[in-house]
Amino acid sequence: MPVIANILAAWKRLRIRRLYNSGDFVKSRTLSLREISSDLNRDFAVSIVLRSHYNEGNWSELIAFTASHPSDQSTLFSKKAESKLFAKSGFLDIQPKSFIKEVWNEFSPLKNWYQEGSCLWFRHPKGWVFWDMPKEFVLSETNESLLFLAMNVLLKPFDIRYQIGESTRRPFGQNAALSYSGGIDSTAAAALLPEDTILSYHRRSFPSSLNHGIVDRLFERWKLKFGRTVLQVPSNHELIRSSMGLPVGFSSDFAAGVHLILLSDTFDLGILAFGTPIDNTWLEKGSKFRDFSSSPYWIRWKRQFANAGLHLEFPINHISEGGAMKVCQITEFIDYVNSCLRGNGLKGCGKCWKCFNKNGPLGRKIDFESYEIQTFLHRIPMPTAMHALWSIHVQNLEHKFLHLQSVLQQPFDWWEKYYSPGLDLIGEYWRDGIEENTRKYLQPMPEPIALEQVNLYRKPPLNLEFHEKSVKHEV
Ligand SMILES: [Zn+2]
Repeated sequence: MPVIANILAAWKRLRIRRLYNSGDFVKSRTLSLREISSDLNRDFAVSIVLRSHYNEGNWSELIAFTASHPSDQSTLFSKKAESKLFAKSGFLDIQPKSFIKEVWNEFSPLKNWYQEGSCLWFRHPKGWVFWDMPKEFVLSETNESLLFLAMNVLLKPFDIRYQIGESTRRPFGQNAALSYSGGIDSTAAAALLPEDTILSYHRRSFPSSLNHGIVDRLFERWKLKFGRTVLQVPSNHELIRSSMGLPVGFSSDFAAGVHLILLSDTFDLGILAFGTPIDNTWLEKGSKFRDFSSSPYWIRWKRQFANAGLHLEFPINHISEGGAMKVCQITEFIDYVNSCLRGNGLKGCGKCWKCFNKNGPLGRKIDFESYEIQTFLHRIPMPTAMHALWSIHVQNLEHKFLHLQSVLQQPFDWWEKYYSPGLDLIGEYWRDGIEENTRKYLQPMPEPIALEQVNLYRKPPLNLEFHEKSVKHEV
């Protein structure tokens, strides 16, 4: 009987809440863990477990729990716990041996860079971060425009930006590199690029809920099947945000590849590529078409990179996340790629937004009713909305979104095709080769190009009439 079940569930919540509010975190947590599988009490129970661990300072346990129970709230608590863990363990206080007394030099910013053996140190306004560089790296031989560009990428949380002057402009190098995350988008980019492109992964050097196991398998695949080694550079620069009280993560869009900026002279780089798909280029916030080639974002960063002797390239700007998945399927990388980093090292967690959008359409098991997936599906505007609509369609979930019928009935096959005008954004040295490789895997979007009509949240709202789902936070 639903009524009895509701009463029983409410009684259990009441009991747990009383224990929690009286400070008995252990018992309230124990009882909550028994309620995790209950549809009625799951969100409440997860919340109690998170809060009780937090109140007791069980940072490692809390992070481990969030990995298996992902949600917005879990992410928030995980980030908080990570910051506390680093502070407690001294991760935030890791410092160089020789330059420990140096402080942030506001007036001579280039003097904030130091080298100890293969370790590159950066003194930012609130502390130190490092990169464990290849032994060939020599700071004193690194062009200052690269150091300025790296600071512009890293110091965004401080709102610090430097002009990279023409007088110090670095000549373009001969080689190319891709900032490689090991996810679906950058793997598709790697598949389209010339084989001599350096693939390089930023490896977070401190303990966190992020699991490197999946990318380790992928990199092994690159080595065994293609004889290519993925260069990995350990670093803790994602802690710059922590020093500002922000969640751990990249300071800006290009921070994942900052080690390649810093290594540009070492490897004679003239091209630096990022696996940024249509969702973040020709679509603004994944939901509205824009002329990306004339966008201030593209023009400003393209110029800044050029002043440091680097051609900034987005080699899959003409491909959507859906198209990138298809490229990974045809090139047989798909079994080794998983864009969810919250899983156990082999599989994704099945409960996060990335799992819904990337793993669900691949037929991998996901929990459609999970807190994060449901919350994001009902958010206005929905994150990566165009791709999410495609994802709903591919997973045959239209019947769960009756209010979206008008947009879900349109064809979606174009989303897996490539946008020809995007090829013009790519430098001539790469354009023909990337077009040729793209044609191996995908077809061009037909005229009239549906992508150019995408405007999912135009006012007054014509297409999407979302209703924010009320989410209970009972404590
Ligand atoms: Zn996931």
